[in-house]
Formats: sequence, structure tokens, C-alpha cells
Amino acid sequence: MTAPLFGQMMDVPLTVSSLIAHAARYHGDTQIVSRRIEGDIHRYTYRECETRAKQLAQALMALGVARGERVGTLAWNGYRHLEAYFGVPGFGAVCHTINPRLFPEQIAYIINHADDQYVLFDITFAPLIDALAPQCPNVRGWIALTDESHRPAMRTPVLCYETLIEAQDGRYEWPQLDERSASVLCYTSGTTGNPKGALYSHRSSVLHAYGASLPDAMGLSSRDAVLPVVPMFHVNAWGIPHAAPLNGAKLVLPGKDLDGKSLYELMEAEGVTCAAGVPTVWLGLLAHLRAAGVRFSTLTRTVIGGSACPPAMLRAFEDEYGVQVIHAWGMTEMSPLGTLAKLNWAQSQRPLEAQRAQLEKQGRVIYGVDMKIVGPDGKELPWDGVAFGDLHVRGPWVIDRYFRQESGTPLVDGWFPTGDVATIDPDGFLHITDRTKDVIKSGGEWISSISLENVAVAHPAVAEAACIACAHPRWTERPLIVAVLKPGATLTREELLAFFVGKVAKWWMPDDVVFINELPHTATGKLLKLKLREQFRDYVLPTALDTDNCPLGENEANR
Ligand code: AMP
Repeated sequence: MTAPLFGQMMDVPLTVSSLIAHAARYHGDTQIVSRRIEGDIHRYTYRECETRAKQLAQALMALGVARGERVGTLAWNGYRHLEAYFGVPGFGAVCHTINPRLFPEQIAYIINHADDQYVLFDITFAPLIDALAPQCPNVRGWIALTDESHRPAMRTPVLCYETLIEAQDGRYEWPQLDERSASVLCYTSGTTGNPKGALYSHRSSVLHAYGASLPDAMGLSSRDAVLPVVPMFHVNAWGIPHAAPLNGAKLVLPGKDLDGKSLYELMEAEGVTCAAGVPTVWLGLLAHLRAAGVRFSTLTRTVIGGSACPPAMLRAFEDEYGVQVIHAWGMTEMSPLGTLAKLNWAQSQRPLEAQRAQLEKQGRVIYGVDMKIVGPDGKELPWDGVAFGDLHVRGPWVIDRYFRQESGTPLVDGWFPTGDVATIDPDGFLHITDRTKDVIKSGGEWISSISLENVAVAHPAVAEAACIACAHPRWTERPLIVAVLKPGATLTREELLAFFVGKVAKWWMPDDVVFINELPHTATGKLLKLKLREQFRDYVLPTALDTDNCPLGENEANR
């Protein structure tokens, strides 16, 4: 056998610190603007950010944090959190971003499971830290992300971030780490069971940042001002804190005020061109735009994902405000980006309605991710846009196993099963129809709850809607719509049901509608259908009482 002929190129490791080093050196004057927890706007440059990230690295090493050890963060989107994004992995420790919206017991579980040595926290979370500290005996210190003058009064002894980093000179060379070493740790939301850790590597974080920046992904550049509304405590704010310095884009960090008015004002004041967030946030922004009668002057595009973007929202942004919506899909286990919906040349030549139908889907994979849908027998299903299957993915920024679950791999034949149910069309566009556990199984056929929710929220009186399966004696399960009306709006069950006619297959028609005041959400803003299903466990559908005279007919016959 002949030995392989190796390429003769430099083996420069892909490290997270190289991203901020690049931005500091080549985009040194570009700004990072943060709305601070203290209430004011803070502004500095990539150059200053890198110096302070180095000071943080020095401070943590002085506290005795070793390479590979975890340092937690409980913080909003702001410049100090960004410094942790680079300062912690920069010297070889692991930045563990924690979602403060989880239940305190889950947070304590996560901190202990990750074995965090120190936890950096925004002062808004001081009461939470006081509650957590007794449950997390292995944490060696809690560091308040503020200066001495804003140090909160707390039961727990805490260190002050500014004091710690001021003691360091910032003269530090980022080490050339092994690019496969761990960079960031994120836990899943844990809607079922305990949250699980996805441990990214320097290599995967940098490759993901490249992928996220591509023209057919977020398309970032040094002419952009990017505002991640998606929190830095949830899957790296979709990689934007890494991708922005890679491109030298201005970064605008909104802090804790994520209501429509606050976001709009920040976008206008800072000339934001690109924003990213979950649909719930954009609902608030659209409501503010309409109520205040204002428009965007610089925003060109918004990336919407984390949950399905309702077509009505896509149209509102595009038709009313001239802002391009880029629907995106991904998950914690994928760093998170998997697919984005942007039309290729051939698709853009189709009639407008056909273009829109494509853009409502979750789109095409970014280079680096490979996907397939499989049936119950594990066999790959066709890409015909009709066949539903379990979605499996693989790629260099997809997890191989969960943190500290070394025995047992989640992979099936080398692919990661996402837990999502989807179709893929002949264009290679993914359409997520459900989570595996949310799909409605009616008479052996599957009904997409997301598709029915999209129809419901397209009704002008509906603010939000969830579709869940209800037990049915004949069909096993049938869809129930649980909806929240917009303030002041009126709508009857019959009117909403009539709105579905002609928009979905006859056998997909919801069996009933219930109006409630508020829908339960997970810590990451997704509908908490598990809770809704529990709430409506004993709900009796009107069609369940009259099975002989079932209005549905046979599923197959009505297809
Ligand atoms: P998380 O790990 O918390 O980011 O959640 C990932 C899950 O959110 C995915 O597996 C999907 O079920 C859901 N999700 C993310 N983006 C979308 C989207 N654009 N459309 C539908 N579901 C989505």
C-alpha cells in the first residue's frame, strides 16, 4: 500500500480566539453596541473587546481555572457576555452558557452536571444566584458582571467582574489550542427529562461561523450591523457572536429589554441591517410597528427560526415593511444552524406564489450539513415534498454524543436523529411538519400540527395558536386548535373553523377550537405542547361523541 501524499499547507488550528483576534486586527474600529443592564448604552470596538477578553482569560487563570474546566454564564446579550465568549475558550476553558429561563432546579442540575468552576452572571440574576448557590457546592466562585458601584446586595459572597479584569494587563498571546478541544457547552431545553449537554469544539464553532456567514445563509459582511435578539444563552445566539467578528460586522446587543418598542428603537438608532430571533419576539415587534405607525429605515433582512415562522409573519415583514425573511431551522445539537430558506436562480424565476411557498419552508442545508428523512423501517424516503419521515442529520458541527453520556450514542448508522418530522421536496427544501412527539396520528395517517397552526395564526383575530392531538375513539387522534385572540378581537369557534375550509385537506380539518388567555412556552420560547396536552388530556371532542356520523369520512378517500 502506498502512503498517502499529504498536502503541504500550514496546520493552523481553527480556534474561537482567532475570530476576535481577526476582528481586532482587521476591523479594530468596528463597534459593538450594548444596551446595558445598568440602563445605559455602552459602545466600544472589537479592539477593546479583544483586550478585555484577554484580561478575563488572565483573571480566570489567576483564579486557578484550568484548561478543559467549565465556566458558566447566566447573562443577557451584552459586551461582557461577549468577552466571556472569547476570554473563556480563548485560554482553553469551556464557556458554558446557561439559560436563565429554565426552572431553578434545572439550572442547578446543569451547573452541577457541567461541573462549572465559576459562574459569571448579570446583576438581574442576583436573586436567582442566591437561590442556586446552596445547591451548587462545587462552584468555586460567582462573578457579578458589573463594577463595584453596581454590585448587588446578596447573601452569596460574589466577586466583581470589573475589579477582577482591571487587575490584569491584557498582554496575553492566545494559545494555539488543539482545534478539536472543547470550546462551548450548551444544554438542550429538556422538555422531556433532564437537559442534555452539547459540547462544541473550537473547530466546530469556527466552521459553523463560516457556514452561518455564507451568502445563502445569513449572508453577513463588514457592511452589516447585526442584532441577535436570539439570546446568547441559547445555542450561541445562532453563532452570530462568532460570525460577526469573522466578517467584521457591527454587533448590536439588546440586553434584557426585548419588547417591540425597545428593539425597534435600538435598530433605528444603530442602523441595524440584519436581525435574528424566534417568531414570538417578532410578533411583539410587528405589533409595535403597527400600533406606532413606524417603519424600518435600515433593516433589510431578519432571520426567523427556533419555531416555525408562520407564513402570515413572513408576508407581514415582506409586504408591509419590505424586510426579507430568512426562515431557518436548527437545534442545539447542531450548533445550531442546519437549513435556511433562500431561493436559487431557478426558484426565483417561478411565479410569486410558488416562490413564497418555498420560502415558507425551512430551506436548504448549508454546506457542511447533510440530511435525510427515514420511515419507520429506517429506510430513506423520497424527496417528493409529500413523504413525511424522521429527519436525520450529520456534519462537522453536529454532535456525536452528549456531554458526560459517554456510554450510548444517540446516532443511528452515523446520523443524528433530530426528533423532527419533515418532508424534503425535489429542490432539496426541508419542511418541518412536527416534532416526532407532536405529530397527530389520525387513522394511521399523519397530520402536521404546524401546518394547522400556520392557518390559525393567519386569521387576523388570532395572536397565537397551538394544535394538539386529542384522543378520538375512531381515528385514535384528531387535531384540536387552542388559540389566543389579539387584544380586543372577537372570533367564534365556528368562524375559525370556517377559515380552514379550502386551506387544508378535508381530513386535516381541526375537530374543535378552544380559546384561552395564554399559551405555555418553554424556556426558549417554543410552545410547550406537553403541558397543553396534559391540560387537555380529558377534553372530549364534539366529533368523538358522534362517531357513526363522523364528518370526516375515510382518510384515504378524502385525500
Ligand atoms: P433547540 O435545540 O432548543 O434550538 O430546539 C430545536 C428544535 O426547535 C428543532 O428540533 C425543531 O423542533 C424546532 N425548530 C427550530 N427551528 C424551527 C423552524 N424553523 N421550524 C420548525 N421548528 C423549528
